Amino acid sequence: MLRTIEITADLTTPSRGEVFHNLHWQKKLDLSVDCFICERIGRTTHLRHGEESMVCSGDQGVQHPAAGRVAAFDVTSERERTMLRAVVDYWWAPFHDVERDTPATAPTHAPWVRLHLGYLCPEARQAEAFSIQSTMVLPVSETCSHCAHPLATTTRSPGIRLLP
Ligand SMILES: [Zn+2]
Ligand SMILES: [Zn+2]
Repeated sequence: MLRTIEITADLTTPSRGEVFHNLHWQKKLDLSVDCFICERIGRTTHLRHGEESMVCSGDQGVQHPAAGRVAAFDVTSERERTMLRAVVDYWWAPFHDVERDTPATAPTHAPWVRLHLGYLCPEARQAEAFSIQSTMVLPVSETCSHCAHPLATTTRSPGIRLLP
């Protein structure tokens, strides 16, 4: 059956007048799901906006494609804040994880997501990236790896919820 998960995140960003680093959400994410193809719970899957399938990290390092996609990727930027709302559609079917002796659920028992951000340092003229994830100990502040300019602060974990 088709399941839909909504992922939300917001970051505090320094006001623009300062050295502009063009901080932006990269259109990809990593999400844990219970994968009925490899029949394992809590598998990390990789999704890219615009692609019609996702990649499950699989069991013992053997990746495989799975039926899931980023259905929406909406960014709202305010003066000192940037927010993301992403919607992931994926196919889920009940199974029993034999190795962990646990039934599959949607979403998975302990949902986890990693979101990626890119920026460009105007001094070093280098493009860089970092990620935020739902298991970080907060708050987390990111600074430019070249000039140490503050980029963003995460005060709230990204939210994950199953849409009805
Ligand atoms: Zn899988
Ligand atoms: Zn910089």
